[in-house]
Amino acid sequence: MAAKENNHQKTESTKQSGRSVVGVLAHVDAGKTTLAESILYLTGSIRKLGRVDHKDAFLDTHVLERERGITIFSKQAEVMLCREEKELRITLMDTPGHVDFSAEMERTLQILDYAVLVINGTDGVQGQVLTLWTLIAKYRIPVFLFINKMDQPDTKRAQLLTEIQERLDERCVAFDLWQTGKLSEEEKQEFLEQLALCDERLMDDYLEHQSISEEKLKKAIAERQVIPCYFGSALKLDGVEGFLQGLLNYIQPKQYPQEFGARVFKISRDAQGNRLTYIKVLGGNLRVKEYIPANGDEKQENSTEREKPDQLRIYSGGQFRMVSEVQAGEICAMTGLKHTYAGQGLGTEQASEQPLLAPVLTYTLQLPGQCDVQAAYRNLSQLEEEEPQLHLVWEEETGELHANVMGEVQMEILKELAKERFGLELSFGAGSIVYKETIAEPVYGVGHFEPLRHYAEVHLWLAPLERGSGLVFDADVSEDELDRNWQRLILTHLEEREHRGVLCGAPITDMQITLAAGRAHKKHTEGGDFREATYRAVRQGLKSAKSVLLEPVYSFRLEVPQDVLGRAMSDLQRMQADFKLLEHSGNLALLEGCAPVALMREYPREVAAYTRGEGRISCTLKGYAPCHNAEEVIAEKGYDSEADLAQPTGSVFCAHGAGFLVEWDKVHGFMHVEAKKMRNGMSTDVSGSLLHEGLQPDTQSPFAAQEKQPSQHKGAVNSAGISAFSPEDKELAEIFNRTYGKKGSTKSNMYNAFAPTARLPAQQKPKKEKEALAEEQEEYLLVDGYNIMFAWEELRQLSEQNLTAARQKLMDLLSNYQGYKNCTVILVFDAYKVEGFQGEVQKYHNIYVVYTKEAETADQYIEKTVHEIGKKYHVTVATSDATEQVIIWGSGAYRMSALGLLEEIYTAEKEIREKLEELSRKRGGRLIEELPPDVAEELERIRLGK
Ligand code: GDP
Ligand code: MG
Repeated sequence: MAAKENNHQKTESTKQSGRSVVGVLAHVDAGKTTLAESILYLTGSIRKLGRVDHKDAFLDTHVLERERGITIFSKQAEVMLCREEKELRITLMDTPGHVDFSAEMERTLQILDYAVLVINGTDGVQGQVLTLWTLIAKYRIPVFLFINKMDQPDTKRAQLLTEIQERLDERCVAFDLWQTGKLSEEEKQEFLEQLALCDERLMDDYLEHQSISEEKLKKAIAERQVIPCYFGSALKLDGVEGFLQGLLNYIQPKQYPQEFGARVFKISRDAQGNRLTYIKVLGGNLRVKEYIPANGDEKQENSTEREKPDQLRIYSGGQFRMVSEVQAGEICAMTGLKHTYAGQGLGTEQASEQPLLAPVLTYTLQLPGQCDVQAAYRNLSQLEEEEPQLHLVWEEETGELHANVMGEVQMEILKELAKERFGLELSFGAGSIVYKETIAEPVYGVGHFEPLRHYAEVHLWLAPLERGSGLVFDADVSEDELDRNWQRLILTHLEEREHRGVLCGAPITDMQITLAAGRAHKKHTEGGDFREATYRAVRQGLKSAKSVLLEPVYSFRLEVPQDVLGRAMSDLQRMQADFKLLEHSGNLALLEGCAPVALMREYPREVAAYTRGEGRISCTLKGYAPCHNAEEVIAEKGYDSEADLAQPTGSVFCAHGAGFLVEWDKVHGFMHVEAKKMRNGMSTDVSGSLLHEGLQPDTQSPFAAQEKQPSQHKGAVNSAGISAFSPEDKELAEIFNRTYGKKGSTKSNMYNAFAPTARLPAQQKPKKEKEALAEEQEEYLLVDGYNIMFAWEELRQLSEQNLTAARQKLMDLLSNYQGYKNCTVILVFDAYKVEGFQGEVQKYHNIYVVYTKEAETADQYIEKTVHEIGKKYHVTVATSDATEQVIIWGSGAYRMSALGLLEEIYTAEKEIREKLEELSRKRGGRLIEELPPDVAEELERIRLGK
């Protein structure tokens, strides 16, 4: 039937022609390459039938593959199926079947239209077949089954079909005999009834016409409602033609949109070292030497990186032909592109999902002694590009290079590739488990980045997802609140890097991260600011969450002779396996289950030893599950999230023209954008996990308003049942307090770069007192009067003419300031030169003015006071005196510079004015009316700038 057809273009108009990408998948040794080879032979694409065993298979092009007889790299071949009025051009993809290369296979899966799953008839449905089945299902690929090696004596057709229906899907139906047309009338009816049971529409057709139309059947297969099965022998070319006829009959070519879209599924290099970008075109077309239409999701800034392909190559085995244009549905390799990566979406396409199968072991790479590590890293990065899952990590602290690999075969291949390409002799050190982290309950994470002339704020919801879901990102913010471009940028930042958990710095997974709010500044927001704010928001959320350590788990299938079954079962128990004994057929017992990779990875060797080679175990990665010895692992890693400077958890805010750092557990009070309420479906437990140590529910809850409409928060309990901050209008000043943040909430010694004024590292304070401080919320501001006066130009000039007036002015300024800061202000003037003076404390409106006694300087007085109250209250000292600074540090207070105080006074006044205007606009001025008269009066005075 399928004859050689050299001239594809010459197609009669009556012919139905189409194109489809078909992937062949199988467990190693099932005969996948052999099947591909016979397909190529039967369709005339090759003249001579190659054989894996003779090292001349058409698709095993790489020398390593020929030597080993296994397929490492996914390949493609073009075949043409035609018969009578039908023709179908198929791009056949041979995918790597070995579990070590399954990442590459998974990426190939994402571009397939149909899959052919080859099952080894002598083995039946093995663990690896189930894994492949799950993957095919995950990517919703319609599938045909080819049950191979039926020439072997011990294969039983009916038994195999039942096993397939039971273990894979009951809608697997044998098509081969039906197609031969040699069935009896009774057998025909049986076949049609089976089909009818698979799908309602087929049932309708059958009941009505006593037959099923090919069109309806095509559709049902495309929707995975029917899985056609073919039995045969690839090696003996038995049943392969019927199988090809089935593909021609039942494959329904896809319809693609007009607009250009493509997916990159592989990066590799040809023999000359040219970088190849493999894509499948999913819409429109692409022409050589023309710019690739930009992805709608890419940032504008990136458009300069847009590239054009030098060549478009259609590969078939080791050869290729060059074309000037590729159409939707086609696969091609482009040369001349530098910035593409596997999994990338082009044009209308989005980047693809993270693969399910990922390496679970990480190894240290050992390089030869004299080797330049930097150069080696650069070279190996080239391999990483081709196999992103390799995941090279250069650990600066230890100077070590780590690589994640799937297993020993991949390590072998890597060694050989490194030698072949770069003359590099690699070896691998001891392997260790790749852990991951997730969270137990939803949390709200916030990040702010505002060093001088920078600005970005990001709020995120982090919610746990089912195991195996990976990370899912989305945005739930209106464009009025945050411009669409910024939203996209934030999503890009969420996607672009691996975010690390706070338990042991392992990558996070199985979470939905939703952009909840954000803010940019018209002038100051720059490219990198949102990156900073986004990363910080993720980490801040993680800090407030209950984190869960995850470890990889194998699902295994163990066959052992009956006489060692007891031993096997006790081993499995020791490895904390969850398993069941399936059957005893003959002398062999079959056990299936799952167990942590950490405990099971060495076991295959043990099995081989204690069963004297009679036992068999196959392990496939099942996924990740909570770690069986989390505490031990965490203790061993000794990860300190606060010492991980590359992944900060805190935020940077700006005051007095300089940035300062606020630790993660204090940041909520500083944020500029109001925190969003939890969304529907998020559990009420959320508050529990948010209200982490040190967070006070009523004052520091992230749900507390930081600004805007205070009315909204009046004693409110929001839908999620979280008690929201209730400011009570009586203290409007409190709101302003929040706007500026509580000074001194900052405490960190590692971010000194951001600290405008030296602060006492609060770690030095006993914890209990810190907490007491947080509860008291009582703040003192001690001002070294003359010192400040002489540091402020305006007051200094005034003092030269009239000292009393200058003092008065300072008192007024501080009095105003107290009005909205609402802290206790103590202004201290030296009076030590006044003979016999005993000192005096005056109350000036709302502040205290202290005149020290004879022979006592203001700083002595301040020191004494700080010493007494510094441990109990939150004390800030405003001075420009350097010696005083040191003393203050020692006694647990915070220091503010003279200029800092001046600026704070001015900015506070200005912001208060704006705030008031905003409030009165929003509330029609009623706010003022609702306030206690004295507060209202004070605010009104400030508003008018008096
Ligand atoms: P792959 O790893 O799935 O690509 O499998 P190969 O195509 O490399 O085949 C693995 C081994 O099985 C080779 O020795 C083949 O010759 C053999 N083989 C493939 N198909 C058949 C078949 O239909 N019958 C028999 N008896 N052997 C086969
Ligand atoms: Mg093969």
